[in-house]
Amino acid sequence: MNGNMEKAWMRIPDIKFTKLFINGEFVDAISGKTFENIDPRTEEVIANVSEGDKEDVDLAVKAARQAFDHGPWPRLPGCERRRIMLKFADLIDENVDELAALDTVDAANLYSLGKAMQIHHGAELIRYYAGAADKIHGTTLKMSSELQGYTLVEPIGVVGHIVPWNFPTQMFVMKVGPALAAGCTMVVKPAEQTPLSALYYAHLAKQAGVPDGVINVVTGYGSTAGAAISSHMDIDMVSFTGSTETGHRIMQAAATSNLKAVSLELGGKSPFIVFDDADVDRVAPLALLGCFFNQGQICVAGTRTFVQEGIHDKFVDRLLEEVKRWVVGDPFDPNVNQGPQVDKKQYKKILSYIEHGKREGATLLAGGKPLPGKGYYIEPTIFTDVTDDMTIAKEEIFGPVMSIMKFKTVEEVIKRANGTKYGLAAGIMTNDLNIANTVARSLRAGAIWINCYFAFDNDLPIGGYKMSGFGKDMGIQALHKYLQIKSVATPIFNSPWL
Ligand code: NAD
Repeated sequence: MNGNMEKAWMRIPDIKFTKLFINGEFVDAISGKTFENIDPRTEEVIANVSEGDKEDVDLAVKAARQAFDHGPWPRLPGCERRRIMLKFADLIDENVDELAALDTVDAANLYSLGKAMQIHHGAELIRYYAGAADKIHGTTLKMSSELQGYTLVEPIGVVGHIVPWNFPTQMFVMKVGPALAAGCTMVVKPAEQTPLSALYYAHLAKQAGVPDGVINVVTGYGSTAGAAISSHMDIDMVSFTGSTETGHRIMQAAATSNLKAVSLELGGKSPFIVFDDADVDRVAPLALLGCFFNQGQICVAGTRTFVQEGIHDKFVDRLLEEVKRWVVGDPFDPNVNQGPQVDKKQYKKILSYIEHGKREGATLLAGGKPLPGKGYYIEPTIFTDVTDDMTIAKEEIFGPVMSIMKFKTVEEVIKRANGTKYGLAAGIMTNDLNIANTVARSLRAGAIWINCYFAFDNDLPIGGYKMSGFGKDMGIQALHKYLQIKSVATPIFNSPWL
């Protein structure tokens, strides 16, 4: 599966940018240190990337602060920011091959999908926010016969974006797009596993005309560069996507430093609920995709598959047929559905969860093993007879592991689906409108998909309930989190105030 290294589709992109991007320049880390960038398909080092630390974050924040306090970006008319952002989006489209390849060697995102869709979607998201840049305005208020009031809607300031590794392009554009439109300046810290495309995006933004200091990228580790961002006294907001565990640390650091605003997009353990009346032929492949896409490394993956007892056995049989057609292999190969996990740590963690599942008495229906040879490949794994108290049903695995659980009634499944600390997404598969609407209202999750899954749109906000975090990405709501409102009151002519 992963041994066909001489195939035509196999390619290592030209890695042009490996240094920190600060104040419009690529620079070495002050310490001179670098860290290894490893290709998860081969376990080989493909680049050495500058290892930013606290001093580098300080420099990046200084550049962003200068650009915010004195530079043109926050002061430009919205239509000018829109023009530059549209140029940025065009450059993304023009560089699709390179960008898709970088995300494939770094994150094992499927190359053909990246090239055909995902990178263009990234460009489209930048366009979406570009279109909003000149529509940011406040309101006027008649306060009393003596006073007039109005609100000014202003960028929140210098933003720190800390992001995970699962979709490097989506993470970058999702954070940077609305912050740019708002007029903010920023320091981005990509995940240490996937630093390459963020540096390329920073280069394209400069080419498009984004002024120096507006976007800075500090590559490095979470406990050093990431922590320096979340505790920095001169950053006004931190916008984080990652695990719930790190979310706690980010919020603590914000609380004990300068009380910066925080937005957290965290982990999930989303239910995918199949009712008796669902069309098995349509829903089984969707359940598979909803759990195993991107190697199961999606925050909103439908990992707890609740199946009503009347359809359970038929659904499981159909799923088994489907999974046999699911191809694991090199993510550059257009015929492949699932590539390797992002790194050795993640790979080992997933395999240990699989062992937990077996030990705790779940039935292994499919998969359960790593693939032989190089690369962090794991078979798509399905457990049946899973109970709510098993580790695989409770914890976020972030890998290709599905837990199938049987249920009887609507009330029961609502209670069990909500029986998690997370609340990110849910899928409801039924043709009964009453059931669909009742369950959609009753689930405590930020995104509900009825008879579909992963139905994303630029205009549709995504974000969690409960310990999946707060604050939205995507949609116009994401723009609002990078804005703040100033109230202005002034006496009018002939007022006693004057
Ligand atoms: P992670 O929390 O380990 O790391 C995320 C980012 O935080 C990385 O850039 C990392 O370097 C940084 N970081 C780590 N420790 C830090 C610290 N102490 N201070 C500041 N920054 C720190 O998460 P991950 O393993 O990269 O990603 C997987 C997690 O992300 C999963 O839990 C997944 O559900 C979540 N995720 C959520 C969403 C969402 O939209 N809700 C989207 C994608 C991924």
